[in-house]
Amino acid sequence: METMKRAVISGQKQAVLQDTPIPEPKEDWVLVKVHAVPLCTEYKGWLDGHEYGGHEAAGEVVKVAQPGKMKVGDRVVVMPGSPCGKCSYCISGEYIHCQHFHNVAEFSGIKHGGDTHVQYLIKQDWLLVPIPDGISYEQASLACCGLGPTFGAMENMNVSAFDTVLITGGGPVGLGGVINAKYRGARTIMVEGVPYRQQKARELGADLVLDPNDPEIRLKILNFTNSIGVDQCLECSGTVEAQRLCMDVTRRRGQIALIGECGEDLAIKASPDFIRKGIVLLGQWHYNLNGVSKIMKVICESSVVEKLITHVFPMSRIQEALEISASHNCAKIILKPWEN
Ligand SMILES: [Zn+2]
Ligand SMILES: [Zn+2]
Repeated sequence: METMKRAVISGQKQAVLQDTPIPEPKEDWVLVKVHAVPLCTEYKGWLDGHEYGGHEAAGEVVKVAQPGKMKVGDRVVVMPGSPCGKCSYCISGEYIHCQHFHNVAEFSGIKHGGDTHVQYLIKQDWLLVPIPDGISYEQASLACCGLGPTFGAMENMNVSAFDTVLITGGGPVGLGGVINAKYRGARTIMVEGVPYRQQKARELGADLVLDPNDPEIRLKILNFTNSIGVDQCLECSGTVEAQRLCMDVTRRRGQIALIGECGEDLAIKASPDFIRKGIVLLGQWHYNLNGVSKIMKVICESSVVEKLITHVFPMSRIQEALEISASHNCAKIILKPWEN
């Protein structure tokens, strides 16, 4: 069996390359030669030594099992997961919420068959999005988590030039939110504590950048919005403090999207927090696949989109890439699986 390189977390704060079999496409699955692998939350697994093989990628179709939506040579962005493609969620574009994910390990006969930190991967053809001419694999790969979750939230909340948007958490997802918000013409506030990321938010066009530990943060947000509050919040930090801030500074009839993963309890008082203010709360994981042509438009037209990528490493330097990811002195980091 032919083998390829795969980046793996091999222990606490340890990552290496290993050899693994190249999976074989069957049915409507195709083989993609991976050219760009964005890092996401893998650094969390690296910090405590849990294996985590990634879920974002862009590359080139090199083999198809049967004629279908993709042909050899197509340049594509790989959407996350392995949903069924048949249920009502999949059919309506909400595949991320599919309840019948394929077991790719079983399907491919390879233990890590669903990983994206690899040189080749298999994916159903309908989960591949064509990359427009003139757009690099790196830039196109931002159609995964770089721009995706906040794009989905802004589609659902109809963010426009009439709005002031608050984004809490300036990691790669929240910073991608600044790009999406500015593309739509909205006034944008970023709440972030790491100086590197505060600076990056300004570079991407944030109109106001605040530190979450600023004791006057609520007052400053209200002053910025004529004492009305913000129209929409996108909570990308995954902290209860930021979730609370969003509820406190959203205007009456405003909307809040929870994007940052968080397993802790948030105390809510139904009347003052929601009923009397008429707030809409939205859970946002990814975006509807039907919005993919719009997100590609953002990638093609935004004048700042490439600034979201702060580091590009050969995949062989996975250890160094995860160290920087964990330091938070970065935005999106991309691995190149074929470079040394
Ligand atoms: Zn499904
Ligand atoms: Zn991701």
